Amino acid sequence: MQVRFWGVRGSIPAPLNMKEIRKKMLRVLEFAADKNISSKQNREEVVDAFANEECLVIGGNTTCVEVKTNDAHIIFDMGSGIRELGYDILEHNKKNEVHDLHIFLSHTHWDHIHGFPFFLPAYLPNYNFKFYSAHPELQKRLNDQQDFRFFPVSTDYMSSKKEFFQLERDEEIKINSTVIKHIELHHPGKSYAYRVEAEGKSFIFATDGEYNNLSFDRINTYIDFYQNADLLVFDAQYSFDEEIEKIDWGHSSALFGVDLSIKSRVKKLAITHHGPEQNDDTIRKLCANAILYKKKNYKEQELEIFLAREGLIVTL
Ligand SMILES: [Zn+2]
Ligand SMILES: [Zn+2]
Repeated sequence: MQVRFWGVRGSIPAPLNMKEIRKKMLRVLEFAADKNISSKQNREEVVDAFANEECLVIGGNTTCVEVKTNDAHIIFDMGSGIRELGYDILEHNKKNEVHDLHIFLSHTHWDHIHGFPFFLPAYLPNYNFKFYSAHPELQKRLNDQQDFRFFPVSTDYMSSKKEFFQLERDEEIKINSTVIKHIELHHPGKSYAYRVEAEGKSFIFATDGEYNNLSFDRINTYIDFYQNADLLVFDAQYSFDEEIEKIDWGHSSALFGVDLSIKSRVKKLAITHHGPEQNDDTIRKLCANAILYKKKNYKEQELEIFLAREGLIVTL
């Protein structure tokens, strides 16, 4: 199973501003100061070494995660990251063959659907889409987003084939041998986490969820749902302090993600839905704190913690 992150921001796209770009340029120059950069090849090597050491950009696009199993091509959420995923899909299908795509939506807040009008495969007749959501009237919600008052191109002009499925509670979806389950998350208007099982591996996509003030029973249902996951992608928009302050805003923190992952025996935890006001340094600090917290509190347990960033591919 291969997981690729195309969008990792929450709320609204957050492209780098000049101040951030300048800061990064200075760091690259500092890193390169004592290195040989006389040829183009030298310079490329230095830039690659820097990028590997301290990834240059975490990414400004909103949520979109692609999962490929042996027999299913799945997309979780259609934030602005889906635009570039669209180009990638077309690049790999130059002969315009018929291609099936399964799109599962956590919910329909803007940051999880506003990339759809810019997703080119949706405009091509050789693409077959199946959309899944536990929310009612998904098709209408997507049509409304492209009403002429808000967007110039209606979904009527998107000539791909589209089918919509409203998920029932506890319903499991089977795509060949790949199985997808879902569970409701505490979030304004509700959000849903998904669990993918394929090839003996398991992946969880759990964004836009808050765990404050939930009963032990409810927390236990999440511990069960996340149990033994090989990778948990977890909404960690808030710092620990914000999580306490912003009760009922519907998001969580990396520290809570660590606690939940340890209880659920998760192997890898990727924190995501980074806040638009957080720069790359702030986000890295939140991740570093989570790693430290794990080391202090759960020395014996195994858990790898990392940042979800655009372009990152995780093979399970
Ligand atoms: Zn969101
Ligand atoms: Zn939301």
